[in-house]
Amino acid sequence: MLALSAEGRLPKVDYAIFADTGWEPKAVYAHLDRLEREIATPAGIPVLRVSAGNIREDALNPQKRFASMPLHILNLDGKPGMTRRQCTGEYKVKPIKKQIRSLLGYPYPARIPREVFVEQWIGISTDEFHRAKDADVRYMRNQHPLIDMGWSRGDCVRYLTSLNLANTPKSACLGCPFHGNAQWREIRANPEEWADVVAFDAAIRQGNARATANNSPLLGAAFLHRSRVPLGEAPIDHVTAAERAAQDSPVDTDAEELEHGVTDGCSPWTCRGDSEATQARFGLAA
Ligand code: SF4
Repeated sequence: MLALSAEGRLPKVDYAIFADTGWEPKAVYAHLDRLEREIATPAGIPVLRVSAGNIREDALNPQKRFASMPLHILNLDGKPGMTRRQCTGEYKVKPIKKQIRSLLGYPYPARIPREVFVEQWIGISTDEFHRAKDADVRYMRNQHPLIDMGWSRGDCVRYLTSLNLANTPKSACLGCPFHGNAQWREIRANPEEWADVVAFDAAIRQGNARATANNSPLLGAAFLHRSRVPLGEAPIDHVTAAERAAQDSPVDTDAEELEHGVTDGCSPWTCRGDSEATQARFGLAA
């Protein structure tokens, strides 16, 4: 959408906002720098990077308030579960709203007059139109230009390829438990990032540091990989593309999810990936 706006195929936006959890792959930060340098700046579109802290550091620091990640849990009775996801709201939605309030001139807790609002573009394509929804506050009005243009994911990929941006990486925290095996393998290809996520996975086995320090320890064990096996030993090679291709049509949903992660992964405005939390109160931000 940034490129379409810069090219004049969509109206020119006033700002582009990137919510940084502090734990994206290096490739994402490099890509963002490139978008800013080659597309946004020449078009006069400021890229605002907003943040509510570093999600990795906060999870491991008992002094820090930490918003729960959707960790895969093995409960004491051996049953699988998940902790509730708060991270998207805390590390993405909140800093974006804060920035928007500031741009409008009404920082929290000022009341924003009814007639003051921003138009916010969300890059959902026609394949995922079910994720489009209205904003939950009056000062933001959501628009979905790609859906209005009738663009599918394939159309977006073709357009990006024409701009020499075919290698656009997927934005998500390095250690996001919603990753599928394909994403874990991509991370493993970078030894430094793989060591980082394997170490984090081991460090959160008993839950986040703040909850443990507050005598609210996890009852069971937490894992980043959905197999609920330590990440370094998890079967991330188990479902290969060849195996998937050999499957009968239609595509097996579980296999697809294992390979590519939950369909509705982490996006500030289109979160649908939550599973039922079985330890709902554990580790939630207070
Ligand atoms: S990418 Fe994953 S871990 Fe990061 S904020 Fe989103 S859901 Fe949470």
